[in-house]
Amino acid sequence: MARYLVTSALPYANGPLHLGHLAGAYLPADIFVRSRRMNGDDILYICGTDEHGVPITIRAEAENVSPRDIVTRFHHEIKDSFDRFNIEFDNFSGTARPNHAKLSQEFFLNLLNNDHIMVKEEDQFYDEQSDRFLPDRYVEGTCPKCGDEKARGDQCDKCGVLLTPFELINPTSSLSGSKPIIKAAKHWYLKLQDFEKDLTTWLESKTTWKDSVTKFMLGWIRTDGLHERAITRDINWGIPVPLDDPDAVGKVLYVWFDAPIGYISSTMEWAERIGKPELWKDYWKNNDTKLIHFIGKDNIPFHAVIWPSLLMGQKSDWILPHDIPANEYLTLEGEKISTSQNWAVWATEAAKDFPTDTLRYALAANAPESKDADFTWAFFQARNNDELANIYGNLVNRTMTFLHKEGGVVPEANYNDRDQEHFTYLENKLNELFTAFEHYKVREACKLMMDLAREGNRYFDETKPWVLRKTDPERLNTVLNVCLNTLRILSFGSYSIIPHSAEKLWNMLGQEGILSLERLNTVMKNSLPIGQQLKESEILFRKIEDNEIKAQIEKLNKQSGNKKMEETPIKESKPEITIEDFLKLDLRVAEVVAAENLEKSRKLLKLQVKIGDESRQILAGIKEFYSPEELVGRKIVIVYNLKPAKLAGELSEGMLLAASNGDKSLLYLVDPGDISSGSSVG
Ligand SMILES: [Zn+2]
Repeated sequence: MARYLVTSALPYANGPLHLGHLAGAYLPADIFVRSRRMNGDDILYICGTDEHGVPITIRAEAENVSPRDIVTRFHHEIKDSFDRFNIEFDNFSGTARPNHAKLSQEFFLNLLNNDHIMVKEEDQFYDEQSDRFLPDRYVEGTCPKCGDEKARGDQCDKCGVLLTPFELINPTSSLSGSKPIIKAAKHWYLKLQDFEKDLTTWLESKTTWKDSVTKFMLGWIRTDGLHERAITRDINWGIPVPLDDPDAVGKVLYVWFDAPIGYISSTMEWAERIGKPELWKDYWKNNDTKLIHFIGKDNIPFHAVIWPSLLMGQKSDWILPHDIPANEYLTLEGEKISTSQNWAVWATEAAKDFPTDTLRYALAANAPESKDADFTWAFFQARNNDELANIYGNLVNRTMTFLHKEGGVVPEANYNDRDQEHFTYLENKLNELFTAFEHYKVREACKLMMDLAREGNRYFDETKPWVLRKTDPERLNTVLNVCLNTLRILSFGSYSIIPHSAEKLWNMLGQEGILSLERLNTVMKNSLPIGQQLKESEILFRKIEDNEIKAQIEKLNKQSGNKKMEETPIKESKPEITIEDFLKLDLRVAEVVAAENLEKSRKLLKLQVKIGDESRQILAGIKEFYSPEELVGRKIVIVYNLKPAKLAGELSEGMLLAASNGDKSLLYLVDPGDISSGSSVG
């Protein structure tokens, strides 16, 4: 049993959540936490809203309310979205609470006493029209690195680089739009250079982290070195600088300084709430705890360099992050999500229109793990209808319907070799699934979860209970018993991804509380008690209709001012053919028996397939979408009578069929279901 402390980036309390937020830092974390809990680990999941900083004061000024009004409103709205999506934190706090201010001030004073903070009088941008100093975020301009014109004085959202306002090209004040002047001001700075050596060693030791984190940060340190960075700001909303110094009056701690400390203050709040006020130390001050920060890529510098510096600089026994699984961005219908242009699917609204398990599944199946991923409503519909409803839901429905006709209790069983083989397959898949969970691979986990359901359907089709009913009642009992226990394993395996539906299924089987009953190491050993009464079954996943998808796209167009999707490309069609032309194609079902990467090619996989009794080699340009491991054992459709050709020096005897979207960012193999290999397709 391991101990984990998991955090998700604190959502900023100045607006509602959209699906892009969920896909990056929250859903993958929730899936991880659930799966570790099912493994029996001690795990705590902590979050809260980030309630300080300039965007909140900007919004409060615009709405003519207080900053506290803004953060209270959005704290509740954000928490409501998480609840709807079953993102279950052990504690969800906020950084405008008194315990957080106290702890952040302690952090500041410790750093000061340990000589990691310096005072500097430095030039700062000043807006004469508004008569105030401009915090970094109030300065906008062109990014010196990537040329994006919307960069802010602290960071460029486009390329992620951290900036200071003076690095911006053509700076303007976001308050008045005027060109700011330069005036001297006194501020407190964190000497990041003090930690450069230790950070480098530490980052270099993190060999299993994503390259997007370690390489990016080490590159930053090696190229530019670390320099002192201001940690105080001239605004009136935030945590006061805890010093008896006339120059500190009217200054607050910079939001990036206090926000990550929110992970700790939220844990302290949790400990207090459950009546064990010292228990937070078991997590934050115990080297056996694995501290894992789930974040989006824009947060990498803060979590992999600045936050560890704050912890190191305390010269106390705080643990450092064990891993920082940073995700890339989710785009929406091919465009960057933009809150200002309202090009977003708002979490609360989506949760009203569709079951959140389906949204969770579609987001997880397409998680932006190693590159940006695009969410489309068509993809969402296909995932629901073709997989959740047609594979998972179908297995549940056909099994339960059959059982209820046969008396509705768990029948006795006498397992034979075929049944044992089936259970061994499920056990292996379940272990693979939990390994994927452990390595934050939620895309792969979705495929493996669906493999469990696919295997259930394969078993059902093969054993034909509808025939056994007439011919062999004893074997029928065993087969139905196997089917029910398959549902039990499926429910367990899918709980981390689609908790609500999995729990419903668990209850249909006459059981209660997945987590009160089972852990990964017991679930295969245990089985449903013979004679247990089953509960009434219900449809787990309804079909999502075309008109519902159309309505979502219209809504998106309408709310964003119909700018983005006007130019939906019309799919160019090929010239008309006759039925005779089509019948020339010999399409067949084939089964992949072996697959390997073709080293010399970026795109090609080399597959060995069986078409009935015949073996062939096929090269397929699907390397970016499928790993060799996940193809073996899978059925595909091939063009059987295609003239053999050489690709990258290798013989290819046929071509496989796959569907892909316009920009080729998604690709799915055509799935012939359980039709046996060698069969014709037409
Ligand atoms: Zn940039």
